[in-house]
Parts: sequence; structure tokens; C-alpha cells
Amino acid sequence: MKSSLFRSLSAVLVVIWLMPSAWALDFNRYHDQDEIAAFLRTEATNNPDIVHFEILGKSQQGREVAILAITKNPNPEAPAIYFNGTHHGNERASTEAVLAFISFLVREQNTPSIDKLLRRYRILLQPMVNPDGHALNLRTDSRGIDPNRDYATPNKPERDAFQIIETRLVRDLMIKEKIVASAAFHSGLEAVLWPWCHTPTLSQHDPVFRSLAGSVAKTMQMNRTSQSFYDYQTDGEFIDYAYMRHGTYALTFEVATEATPPANRLQAVTRRAVQGSISFLRAVDDILSNSQAPAPILTGDVQASL
Ligand SMILES: [Zn+2]
Repeated sequence: MKSSLFRSLSAVLVVIWLMPSAWALDFNRYHDQDEIAAFLRTEATNNPDIVHFEILGKSQQGREVAILAITKNPNPEAPAIYFNGTHHGNERASTEAVLAFISFLVREQNTPSIDKLLRRYRILLQPMVNPDGHALNLRTDSRGIDPNRDYATPNKPERDAFQIIETRLVRDLMIKEKIVASAAFHSGLEAVLWPWCHTPTLSQHDPVFRSLAGSVAKTMQMNRTSQSFYDYQTDGEFIDYAYMRHGTYALTFEVATEATPPANRLQAVTRRAVQGSISFLRAVDDILSNSQAPAPILTGDVQASL
């Protein structure tokens, strides 16, 4: 009897041990970089079939710049959808939003709708583009350069862009992966924004961007969607680069009205960001599954103006 009870308990423990694990990460507080690094590694270790951990490089001050790929597609050239946070180091809600989305995808990996997306796409998740800014609680990098003004755009040739290592790591990732869509998390208002940021001219794919942003904003119960220029004009943003250079359907998700909302609101902020991200994946999948959808390609006009 005793040994049979022991065997049963052992079996239960083995089953628990073998279960795909969502590492417990509570969003009732913000996480430091040691916790983030441990979380990313543990998710990869516990789910080796679908979660792949990679260090893209080191920041200016030597901090790890890490990324996870989550996928059930064995083809390394499968289309990728890329989420990043923390271009601006003080926008800590954007870091946590990516962590929450990782947690969600791992936990829900066998839910049929998520399983379908993971079989089709490589989901790339980079919690921190700018870990030095995160550590120092700065919007910029450690030298005062704003990473989200450092990308090439139709107004800014490559030779004037990519002054900092952190944006060069993003550039190299985008060259290596076939990224069809991307969301850059920021925090400081509640809005979903799309290219262009540098000009009031509508992009060739404005209707697609408008539709994508509308789907996400509706899910996140946000009223504000706009071409980014009409929020305010900038030059050198990630979404302009991603769209211009790689034909990526790239959006900015502004997830909360404050850069770092009070910890007791973080749960709600991250939950909503996860819902918006799933809605984005589904909307992108719908567009890419529809042969009538315009292909996201570099336009002749944009090339000519480089
Ligand atoms: Zn920002």
C-alpha cells in the first residue's frame, strides 16, 4: 500500500515535471534584469521543442541583449513576427508586456488557435532593445542617444543611422530573419500607431495599417489610432525602418498612459497588451492568408528618395 502510494505520488510528480512549463512570473511588480534573464533561459530550458533562446549581442555597457524565438515550425526561414520592448529604457511597462506575452504563448501553446499560429510563424520576442536605459531608468541609451531615432528611414540614409550597437543588433536581426510583421511596445500614452512617422504622406499600405491598428485598438479598448506622424513627427523610428527596408507590417503599441504605471496596474496593462498582441497575430495572419492583400514591399518612390 505504502509503495503503491509512493509510486502514484512519483508518477504525479513526473507528470508535473514533464508538463510544458510557464515559469511563474507575476505582474504585480516590475522585474529586474537578473530575473528577466533567468525567466528567458528557464522558458527555453523547460520547453526546448518550441522555445529557443539567443543572445543577439551586448549593449554599449556590456549588458546582454537577448531574444526568444517561439515556434512549432521547423523551417528557420518560416515567416517571423517580431515583438520588441524597451527602445525607451524608462518605459518599463513595455518590457513587462513582452514578458507577459512570452508567458502567454508558452502557457497556451496547445490551445488550437495558438498552436495554428505557432505552426505557421516564428514568433520573435525581445523584451529589451535598450537594456542600459532600462538599468539606468533612462529613455535614451547610456550616452543620451534615443534608440528610436537612430534607424534609417526615407529621410535618413543608413550612413547617418545605426550610431548605437543596440539598433545595429535589431538591424542585423531583421536582415537575418524574414520578418513579415512587427509590434514595438512603448508606454506613455494609449494608442496604436503606424508608418510613416517622418512624413504626412500616406504609405502605400495605409489601408492595411489602418485595419491592423483598428483590430488591435478595438481589442485593447483604445480610441486612439493614427499614422504616427499625426501623433507627432519624428525621424529614425523602428517602424519606418522595418516597413521601408523589409516591407514589414510594423506598428507601435503604446500600452499605458504612463511610462511606468504603478505596480498595482501592471497586471491589467500586461493583460491588455497580450490581448492586443494576439489580435495583431490573427489580423496579420488573415491579411497574409488573403491573396488579394497587397504585398508589403519597398516602393520605388521610397527607394528613389534614399
Ligand atoms: Zn517610447
